[in-house]
This record gives sequence, structure tokens and C-alpha cells, in this order.
Amino acid sequence: MSDLLTREEYDAIAKEISCPSNSWINGKYTGARSGKTYENFNPATGEKLCDIAACETEDVDYAVKKSRQAFASGSWSRRHPSERKEVMIKWVKLLKRNRYELAVLESLDSGKPVCDCASIDLEETMHCLAWYAEAADKIYDKIAPTQDDAMGLIVREPVGVAACVLPWNFPMLMLAWKAGPALAAGNSVIVKPAGQTSMTALRLAELAIEAGIPAGVFHVITGGGAVVGKALGEHPDIDTLSFTGSTEVGRLFLKYSADSNLKKVTLELGGKNPAVVLSDAEHLDAVAEHVVNACFWNMGQNCTSNSRLIVHKDVKDELLEKVLIKVREWRTGDPLEPSNRLGSMVSKAHFDMVMGYIKKGKAEGATLVHGGEALNVGSGCFIPPTIFDNVTREMTIAVDEIFGPVLAVMTAGSNEEALQLANETCYGLQASIFSSNVRNALRGAKELQAGTVTVNCYGEGDISTPFGGMKHSGFGGRDNGLEAFDQYLETKTIWVDLSEYEVDAELG
Ligand code: NAD
Repeated sequence: MSDLLTREEYDAIAKEISCPSNSWINGKYTGARSGKTYENFNPATGEKLCDIAACETEDVDYAVKKSRQAFASGSWSRRHPSERKEVMIKWVKLLKRNRYELAVLESLDSGKPVCDCASIDLEETMHCLAWYAEAADKIYDKIAPTQDDAMGLIVREPVGVAACVLPWNFPMLMLAWKAGPALAAGNSVIVKPAGQTSMTALRLAELAIEAGIPAGVFHVITGGGAVVGKALGEHPDIDTLSFTGSTEVGRLFLKYSADSNLKKVTLELGGKNPAVVLSDAEHLDAVAEHVVNACFWNMGQNCTSNSRLIVHKDVKDELLEKVLIKVREWRTGDPLEPSNRLGSMVSKAHFDMVMGYIKKGKAEGATLVHGGEALNVGSGCFIPPTIFDNVTREMTIAVDEIFGPVLAVMTAGSNEEALQLANETCYGLQASIFSSNVRNALRGAKELQAGTVTVNCYGEGDISTPFGGMKHSGFGGRDNGLEAFDQYLETKTIWVDLSEYEVDAELG
């Protein structure tokens, strides 16, 4: 984005910013009924930002009641899709008008570099919401193939009340991925942001109401996962629940559903994604750039982070050398400083966990070739890009999703072995493959067990392509693309008898 601000301008916004702290329920900021709050910190400085409402089951019940009433009223659910589109486009315009405030808010709350918040998170959030707004009035139903005596209509209707439980790594964007299609389809929506990063979700809800989304239709409810997340998962009057987060917590939502009303559940979960570099890979400078971006972007707190580099022995030394040169360009530090590519980890607890993995990598015998020590920047939680060479398949850093800036480099003796190593994981979210030979690249792409495979680049596709995981990385459906609507629409068959009735002579 060309209109990024200077350090001084971001500082000025941060100084004046007001931190939303109450839940957004039924069209207004609302504290928890219990009055409870929890402290919210800026992980880059350790400073307290605000006290956030710690909602509980009774707050969830109220939000669900209001959502159901709004759905039944038809104020949004039965509105013409083109009108829903107009309102959502207005919402996107309001995001654009408030983009710097939102970018700074996201950065303060999460430790992400403010430039990424402005040029990636916010841009993609707006694009996603606009995409689903535009799709709202272009979705057609189907008619079944029948004889002339019947007509089978296959129609899709909004499910009713949708809950979206979000992670902390892309707070605004994950909201858009889920609330975008859910709202465009006509549902009432309750969002539960991650406890660490609630502030932008709250501002987005405030702007949604300003754009014209009716009060009972969109809520953001803050609080702990084990309380608010669980209450949503177990609620008997929520029809669909879309979750992004860890595999461990994702499993709980299947239990919650089984024990309550069998609500639809869609899970987007963790990953231990490989970047596979075959022996015939060319343009190793470009490959190195992708490898560094894939692993370290967003401080590695990315479900599609390519945290394993699996590289053929013939190109390994040259590639690693180039990776080490590239990674030096990625400066880590104050997220409000535009020249920093990496900011702070999201919290002290997460920082400690990632540092624990680095310690394990050293103890288990991997060769540390870059980073490996926390940065001493004030009271922040900064970890520089860390690279381990000579990682073997049984080492903890080759197996666990670290969710931090840690790259495990594994050398393969053949292309077959590289693909085999890549699939040796319980996860299956994303994989990247690099090869100059189309046949090898496509064969490899087919063999890799992942919901998204990128060829000669790192990525996740874009908003037009479905996103989700195989194996322990996902369940029940996909975000993004038109496929995301499946989470928020129910299929109904309407069978119409068109046969000629014989006219009863007596009645006739
Ligand atoms: P998390 O599973 O700890 O939390 C996710 C959400 O679940 C939060 O809103 C949290 O409050 C809530 N929650 C926590 N405990 C709960 C419980 N007992 N019952 C109900 N809800 C509960 O995950 P996280 O730490 O926020 O995010 C990191 C994880 O998310 C990583 O594993 C990452 O790979 C995954 N992730 C996946 C994708 C994807 O699209 N596949 C995208 C981003 C992140």
C-alpha cells in the first residue's frame, strides 16, 4: 500500500486511540452482567491497554436470544440479497475510512507490525468482506432433473444463528473470513474473538451497525475460551459454529455439538506445513525469499507457516546460504516502527512456549544457524527468526506446531524421500513445492496431503479459493471461496407434484 504512515504518525494515533473494552451486544457496548473484566496488555511493551469484559454464559444466552429474534424478524434474513450487499459494501467503506485507527489498534493488541496490519490484514479484511457482499446476490439455487410430473427445487436457506470463534493471529481477517459469508447469506452472527485480541473485532461491530446491519444481527462477545467459547459450543439455539484455532480446542467443539443440538461445526486447525524443494528447483534466490516469508511472516504465528524446509541434498547448501542472507533483512522490534518486518509475540505465555521449543531444538541436537535467543527490547516479547539445520524426523521441532519464528531444515536424499517426509505429520493444512519441472511439481502437488498446495511460491490461494485442512488440520468444511457459504446455508428440497389430477365427475 503506498499510503503507509510514518513512525511519528503511527505514534500520534496510538497516543490518542481509545481501546474498546466492552462486548458489542444488540447494537451497543455492554459490560459483562457479572461486572467481571480481565486485563488486556500490549505484548510489545508490557503496558496495560484496558480491562475487557469477561462475559459468561448468561451474556451468551442474551446475545443468542437477540440473534434469534432478529433472524425471525426478517430484518436481515429476508432482506433482498442486493440490499444486504449494499449495506456490507458500506461497512467496507467505513473500514477504509478508519483504516489507520484499526491498523494501530490491531498492532497494539497483538504485537504485529503496524505496516502489516495496514497493508495486509486490513486490506485483505476489506477485500474479503467486499467479495462476500458482492457474492450475496449472485448465488442461485438448483432444480433437480425430473419428469414433467414433478419439480424438485433444491434451495439453500440461511441456517439462522451462526457463531464464529476466532484465534488471535489474524483477528480482523479471521472475523471477515467467517462473518463475511455468514452475514451475506442472511444469518445472525455472534463472534467470539480470542481473549488476547478483542479490540478490532469490537470496532468492526460498531462500524457494522453504523453501516446499517440491524442491531440484533451482529454481536461480538468477549471473554475466556473455556467460558464463552464453551457456552457458544454447547448452546442449543446456535445452528452453526465456525472455529479457527488449535486442534486441541477444535476437538472440544465436536463434543460440545454432540452433547447439545448437533449444530454444524467447521474447524480450521493447526499445521506443520512443509516447503519441499526438489532437486530440480531453480531460481534459488526466489525460493529463499518464499521460504523466509513462509516461515517468519507474522512472527511465524501463522497456521500455514512453512515451519519445515525439506530440501533435496543437491540444492541444500546453496539454498540455506541464500535463506541466511535473506533472513538478515527481516528486522525484529517495535511494531510501530515501519522498518521492522517482525514485531512481538502475542503474549508472554506464548513467548515462553516458543522459547521452550528453541531450547528443546538445541538440547535434542539440531544445529542452530540463526537466532535462537530472545531480543532484549524493553519489556516486550521479541524472538528473532531462528533457523535450525540438521533436523531429523523424530525431533520435537520437526513434529510439533510451534507457532513461532522457528524453521526446521531437513535434508532429503531423494525427491521421493522429500515428499515422504513432508507427509509424515498428523497435520494437512498447507504445503509448498518448488521445482522447475512441471511434471515433477504437479505430481508432487498431488501427492502432498494438504488442503492447499502452492507451486513455486508460498501462499494460501486467495479469497476466491477454498481454504481448510486435511487430517488433524480441519473438519467439516472450508473457509473462503463460494464453498464457505456451505457453513452458513442449509439445503432444503421442495418437491412439487405437477401431475394431472383426474377430475372427479361428481365433484366436477
Ligand atoms: P486456541 O485453540 O487456543 O483458541 C482459539 C479460540 O478458541 C479462542 O477464541 C479461544 O478463546 C477459544 N477457546 C480456548 N479454549 C476453549 C475451550 N475450552 N472451549 C471453547 N473455546 C475455547 O488457538 P489460538 O492459540 O488462539 O490460535 C492458534 C492456533 O490456531 C494454532 O494451532 C493455529 O495453527 C490455529 N490456526 C488455524 C488457522 C486455520 O485456518 N487453519 C488459522 C489461524 C490459526
